[in-house]
Amino acid sequence: MSNNIIEVRELKKYYPVQGGVFKRHIADVKAVDGVNLAIKKGECLGLVGESGCGKTTLGKTILRLNNATEGRIYFNEPQEKVEEVEGLLSSEDREERSRGQKLRKKIDITKFYGRRLLPLRQKIQIVFQDPSNSLNPRMLVKGIIAEPLITQKLMNAREIEKRVIELLYTVGMAKEHLMRYPHEFSGGQRQRIAIARALATYPEFMLMDEPTSALDVSVQAQILNLLQKLQADFQLTYLFVTHHLLVVKHISNRIAVMYLGKIMELGSTDDIFEDTHHPYTRALLSAIPIPDPETKMKKIILTGDVPNPVNPPKGCRFNPRCKYAEDICREAEPELEEASGNHFVACHRWKEL
Ligand code: SF4
Repeated sequence: MSNNIIEVRELKKYYPVQGGVFKRHIADVKAVDGVNLAIKKGECLGLVGESGCGKTTLGKTILRLNNATEGRIYFNEPQEKVEEVEGLLSSEDREERSRGQKLRKKIDITKFYGRRLLPLRQKIQIVFQDPSNSLNPRMLVKGIIAEPLITQKLMNAREIEKRVIELLYTVGMAKEHLMRYPHEFSGGQRQRIAIARALATYPEFMLMDEPTSALDVSVQAQILNLLQKLQADFQLTYLFVTHHLLVVKHISNRIAVMYLGKIMELGSTDDIFEDTHHPYTRALLSAIPIPDPETKMKKIILTGDVPNPVNPPKGCRFNPRCKYAEDICREAEPELEEASGNHFVACHRWKEL
């Protein structure tokens, strides 16, 4: 069996732009543009980048909340099977490619629709950024947490009631909270309820979409500690999306840095914080405030705006804002290449910098 719970190959998610009197398709917003990524079982992979870089779109496409434009997503499949399908799909032989397409339909979740998605919905869950919006204000806590269990038809009424109470205690709340509405709770408690709902169906993989960004600073640490405890207790795998680098440093085993729909750097948390190779990651790290007046870190100011994802720059997408850009950066797009061990970087000049 593979030790990857998720494998993403050449994933693209484009949003069509329509224009003119007849609303014709004139261009695409390339939110995710050819991402390759593997998430290992039991790890927390942090996904960071500026707003609009495509990190949330990537997470939601992996969860099949968005339909992928192109690419493959494998969930909990043996590595040999994934490699067999990928090998056949890239074959020069037409018959082999068509055999690959047939096999792909069985294991690539971008090809799952309707009832085939139901088992997946049980095993993969999401915690959204703002619990005020993600919880139905007209439902009691009891109903909110029970909803996925009822939809999935996993238990009878008595078992559901027992499970809901168990979940409330798991996230640090109590039985007396069952018959209250979301507005009767603080932001932190609402996020705990959202986490309990996400845990209800015994998921294996969870997308954390900036789960602490809408909370007070004092509550953020409590929620992060709770998420870490749950991960250890239930052997969960997280994809933790955030723009807050100190949060991912605290919770992640590995970090992927995204820019304009592409992964720019991927490595262990230590690789990224102690030995980063990509100029964009360096700029992000230099912007972290240091709570010590004695320590001064040179800030790297990124000039120019983030380019339009409808028409990303030729070559390296970061080249208009990179002070190290040379001719090759404007001509050829760098691929993610191995810098050391499990540290990958997409930059033509990383060895010199
Ligand atoms: Fe900068 Fe060139 Fe590296 Fe892109 S490839 S980050 S432009 S040095």
